[in-house]
Amino acid sequence: MKQTIDRLFENAILEKEAYCDLIINLEKKEYEKELRYLFTKARQMRERYYGNKIYTRGLIEFSNYCKNDCYYCGIRRGNTKAERYRLSPEEILACADEGYRLGFRTIVLQSGEDASYSTDQIGSLVAALKEKHPDIAVTLSLGEREREVYQYWYDCGADRYLLRHETAVKAHYERLHPAELSFEHRIQCLYDLKEIGYQTGAGFMVGSPFQKTEDLAEDILFLKKLSPHMAGIGPFIAQKDSPFAEYPNGTLTQTLILLALVRLTLKNVLLPATTALGTIAPDGREKGILAGANVVMPNLSPVSVRKKYQLYDNKICTGEESAQCRKCLENRVRLAGCELVTDRGDYAETMIAS
Ligand code: SAH
Repeated sequence: MKQTIDRLFENAILEKEAYCDLIINLEKKEYEKELRYLFTKARQMRERYYGNKIYTRGLIEFSNYCKNDCYYCGIRRGNTKAERYRLSPEEILACADEGYRLGFRTIVLQSGEDASYSTDQIGSLVAALKEKHPDIAVTLSLGEREREVYQYWYDCGADRYLLRHETAVKAHYERLHPAELSFEHRIQCLYDLKEIGYQTGAGFMVGSPFQKTEDLAEDILFLKKLSPHMAGIGPFIAQKDSPFAEYPNGTLTQTLILLALVRLTLKNVLLPATTALGTIAPDGREKGILAGANVVMPNLSPVSVRKKYQLYDNKICTGEESAQCRKCLENRVRLAGCELVTDRGDYAETMIAS
């Protein structure tokens, strides 16, 4: 297994079967040493491109209204128990200002697919953010739109876009989403975003219902093909009012294995240690960093609405002020032997060391 990990480190692309073997075996107790080796190599790969720097993004979850009905998600339109909220452009700008004061140089705007903000309003918001703070990167994560809309927001100054593919296997996608959502459209969106020029983020959940090991291998191979700048990978966590309430959560170990494999396969990709990872284990994000992650995304939303953006149960960090979140993460990153920095944290094209 060590040899396979070395091959991956040396730039080989593994066959689907080889990824499957690694995913299955590395979770077994008897391969603990190999698992540690995987994490060591993943960290080494991260260091080649990013040193010990961990980038931070300030996340503003500005609306939990959504027209979609994804079965896993707590803010799907069918969840009548979700308490809905939306922030006004002024409130969003105020959160971003606070983030700027705290040293964030990337602001991520995320929401459900909420049609009440028009294309123009989002465009103006992006332009206003960039005008006020020309040295920040603005990331959007607003779901699937038409190419012209993505282009318009890009022209307004948006730098990056996050749209997880959720699963790279159509049959699996169709078990996680209602029939009106199209796998092909979601994938097309990702190619459009890249072509337009966004730093693009794809990604998937680990341990989502009906997921097979081969599906995870396909996720890695799809990422390799798309070659996104970012990959958001976190465990599936059941949400009590969703159709998947009774399904088991993704595991810490499997998520860490996938993070490390994606780091080794995509090399310089920006890889967050997600809030979901911190939710299934108290030290999940530190462990994510030790498995090759290099981004953390603390919440900048007003505390009054934080609890309402409940994609899954028991989401962490819904009670603290933004400044506290930042401090806490700084400590966690230090515990993982790294340093939280305030740069924009763009995608590294080249190695800084070998
Ligand atoms: N509307 C936007 C943002 C979605 S929320 C979009 O469509 O991209 C961001 C991510 O949260 C989703 O892409 C999904 O991967 C993740 N998510 C949603 N429900 C989840 C759950 N129950 N467990 C873990 N992650 C979940």
